[in-house]
Amino acid sequence: MRILVTGGAGFIGSHYVRTLLDGGYPGCENARVTVLDKLTYAGCRENLPATHPRLDFVRGDVCDGPLLRDLLPGHDAVVHFAAESHVDRSVESAAEFIRTNVGGTQTLLDACLTAGVGRVVQVSTDEVYGSIEEGSWTEEHPLLPNSPYAASKAAADLIARSYWRTHGLDLSITRCSNNYGPYQHPEKLIPLFVTNLLEGLPVPLYGDGRNVREWLHVDDHCRAIHLVLTKGSAGEIYHVGGGNARTNRALTDRLLHLCGADASMVRRVADRKGHDLRYALDETKIRDELGYAPRVTFDQGLADTVAWYADNRAWWTAHKRPPSAG
Ligand code: NAD
Repeated sequence: MRILVTGGAGFIGSHYVRTLLDGGYPGCENARVTVLDKLTYAGCRENLPATHPRLDFVRGDVCDGPLLRDLLPGHDAVVHFAAESHVDRSVESAAEFIRTNVGGTQTLLDACLTAGVGRVVQVSTDEVYGSIEEGSWTEEHPLLPNSPYAASKAAADLIARSYWRTHGLDLSITRCSNNYGPYQHPEKLIPLFVTNLLEGLPVPLYGDGRNVREWLHVDDHCRAIHLVLTKGSAGEIYHVGGGNARTNRALTDRLLHLCGADASMVRRVADRKGHDLRYALDETKIRDELGYAPRVTFDQGLADTVAWYADNRAWWTAHKRPPSAG
């Protein structure tokens, strides 16, 4: 089996690729992997093995049709992670989100059709549904994205679905809650707070901290994606939630504790524009139909993640303060 992984040098994509190459997905121990990644500020070649006999790395853009048409023939499957992924950046400027997340998905899927790729997974997010005060979303819930990031992912999901419906492309969509784990860029909440605390700096908490997110370890998310790739049905959407709902305030308290700090390190900052209050996914479908269950407990996963950042200062320092930032 030969799998093309877009965005495979980013946080979640690189975890998927490392696990695949390590033989972590039974039945795919000999899979060959091609990573296509533009290496934006979020992607890093060092997140992947420098050399591996079953890995090919291609630096390139998912919006580059001719490149994709050259690259895709011979691949059996595509897992599409590549995206601009940070909500705050999309609030500042949305153009790159629309170009990569929407245009890139359409360009990639066209190339998949031309090359006759047998299976595609579009990796998406719970944010496409907007915000929910109580209860949880099923896969049938209407899309009502609030941020430009979420809107670009919702648009990509609809394009992906249309390529299944119109062209018969064998494609499934996963929608996951917030991920955490090693190699996550320090602009995101958990690594930002942990690395600030490791540096003795305060942590910026949005608004009153009562926004609720579900947290899932990246290893569980990647296992779910691989399950959908190998066992999911065409045209179907699968939620991957994890069920660890926490307010940002409660999560902050936990991180303070794990880093040996106290509430004096918290700085309240103006809330994010249009900040969604609560996300909650119903993941009955992937559990019942594909037998998925998360394995990493939140307490253990979070403690391991804090330990990883403590042990990998050089990695996150380079990302937090790239040389061009002065
Ligand atoms: P990330 O920002 O860490 O990585 C994105 C990767 O895509 C980077 O390596 C980057 O270089 C690459 N990329 C960006 N633009 C590209 C382009 N035009 N062409 C080729 N490569 C490009 O993101 P992540 O957190 O790993 O998220 C991966 C996917 O999972 C995204 O599609 C995101 O929407 C989705 N997702 C993320 C989360 C989360 O909590 N992080 C939750 C649910 C879904």
